[in-house]
Amino acid sequence: LGVPTVPPRPAPRRRSRRIQVGSVAVGGDAPVSVQSMTTTRTSDIGATLQQIAELTASGCQIVRVACPTQDDADALPVIARKSQIPVIADIHFQPKYVFAAIEAGCAAVRVNPGNIKKFDDQVREIARAAKDHGTPIRIGVNAGSLDKRLLQKYGKATPEALVESALWEASLFEEHDFRDIKISVKHNDPVVMIEAYRQLAEACDYPLHLGVTEAGPAFQGTIKSAVAFGALLSRGIGDTIRVSLSAPPVEEVKVGIQILQALGLKERRLEIVSCPSCGRAQVDVYKLAEEVTAGLEGMEVPLRVAVMGCVVNGPGEAREADLGVASGNGKGQIFVKGEVVKTVPESQIVETLIEEAMRIAERTPRD
Ligand code: SF4
Repeated sequence: LGVPTVPPRPAPRRRSRRIQVGSVAVGGDAPVSVQSMTTTRTSDIGATLQQIAELTASGCQIVRVACPTQDDADALPVIARKSQIPVIADIHFQPKYVFAAIEAGCAAVRVNPGNIKKFDDQVREIARAAKDHGTPIRIGVNAGSLDKRLLQKYGKATPEALVESALWEASLFEEHDFRDIKISVKHNDPVVMIEAYRQLAEACDYPLHLGVTEAGPAFQGTIKSAVAFGALLSRGIGDTIRVSLSAPPVEEVKVGIQILQALGLKERRLEIVSCPSCGRAQVDVYKLAEEVTAGLEGMEVPLRVAVMGCVVNGPGEAREADLGVASGNGKGQIFVKGEVVKTVPESQIVETLIEEAMRIAERTPRD
């Protein structure tokens, strides 16, 4: 009695206005998208396009490129045209590059209100140019570059200060009837960041770009981002995400995709259910799980694979998965869709699982 038969899912999505970032819809009922940012000099067109191609192959849906110099601005038309995914130009200090990015055909432009001192005078022109080209603007507020006026008012980058900065900036565009906007209010502290987005979500209907800024090296940044995005997305808040890591951007995309999959917001592909091992283990679970993961990486169909160290929980978990192994006595019982299909010596467990996975993939219809 009272046992749910369907796993709980995140709360319904917050109702946000939908904008179009090139071919990717953001907000409304559009799926939450994953984005990253290149680390190359944008003026190095070849290297930037190469990195964008790698990001695209890893599942990145939108890419941002920095535009701090005229040479970078000059590279934008070719990059925007040749990239397979929408390109957002990231402008911090120079309003003239906003115009260049819009003219270049970038799918959107990110501006940082705290950094663009001369920005206010030029909002009307930017709004007009962006509207003419159908180019959305991301108002990207960042704790590290918050407007001095707000820092004085609040003492530090509090959630209220971040939200006030974003809404004030949005109001400048709204005065010119421009609402093709998404917003981010990033902070390196997930607790502050979560509260800022929660307040912002209540205060406006713009789509929200989630990010924990300067989240740190891969391990720490992954945990901070997963905690913060999980807290917000599980309440229906967030329309596009960027995981910021001091690590290659492809890693950011992998983490972003895993977060969405863990929340049930993106179809799970390969999911390894492996036990932590303990004194009862009759096989090297770590090695086995790693070998199975490596052997099945890149599977095109959803696949839940159980790798269990002994017969205590092994058969039960293996039966629940599409494919599984329960180890014991130097052997592995191989399960497919809940049925034992064979028992193989330990040395053949990995190759047998890979063979069975291939068989399942062949039988699974592709979309
Ligand atoms: Fe230990 Fe067996 Fe559970 Fe793995 S499945 S943690 S080896 S009891």
